[in-house]
Amino acid sequence: ARRKLIAGNWKMNGLAASAPEFVRVVGAYQGGLKADVDLMVFPPFTLLTSFATASRGAGVLVGGQDCHAKPAGAHTGDVSAEMIADAGGQAVIVGHSERRTDHGETDADVRAKAEAARRAGLVAVICVGETKDEREAGEARAVVSRQLAGSLPDDAAAAHVVVAYEPVWAIGTGLTPTAAEIAEMHGFIRSELAGRFGAEAADAIRILYGGSVKPDNAKEILATANVDGALVGGASLKADDFLAIAKAA
Ligand code: 13P
Repeated sequence: ARRKLIAGNWKMNGLAASAPEFVRVVGAYQGGLKADVDLMVFPPFTLLTSFATASRGAGVLVGGQDCHAKPAGAHTGDVSAEMIADAGGQAVIVGHSERRTDHGETDADVRAKAEAARRAGLVAVICVGETKDEREAGEARAVVSRQLAGSLPDDAAAAHVVVAYEPVWAIGTGLTPTAAEIAEMHGFIRSELAGRFGAEAADAIRILYGGSVKPDNAKEILATANVDGALVGGASLKADDFLAIAKAA
């Protein structure tokens, strides 16, 4: 059985003053939540070391929101997977739609980053998802299929890869697909994984849903077939909201 994973993507939010929110999450996790669910938090790089220190031994995993494909070199402003591991991280998000849009990342770039994560011993949370126009044109499955084919490494396996389905039109909008639409896409993703990696490997890989997950819709979304957790943006910034979502898992 796949253990549920609730992951918080803080995006470009959070200052040193936000650390107590994370400390509360860690406390609640140690206080019992640990038995039921895995938690990951992806703060901005500026807070990674302090969050890694705060969560040490507590079981809440932390990570980066992106990484460079190379281990080191002349790439001003970039951070490597090895650096994330060195800072105490265990995971990294790659291919978020905001990176694909803001920085022109291609599927090949995302795949190279996922391979870098593996090299550094990090779990890669690999994001896919269609835009509103693509959904309205009936192309959602084709887009997701192409992104999976291009972004996942050939050796993808549950121990080091998590897939996150994040329809772009649901991110930060308060809109979500219906439970039936989520079930359909997650089932499709599972079958695509089975086609490439075999049924057994595909069955073990966790598929998260992301896009406007809130305390009041978490229960329904997390109870949907083939939804193995959530990648939470805005609602991950407040400990109460994030914990409410984790408790719904
Ligand atoms: P929101 O939860 O704010 O819609 O963001 C989702 C997301 O992009 C998580 O990576």
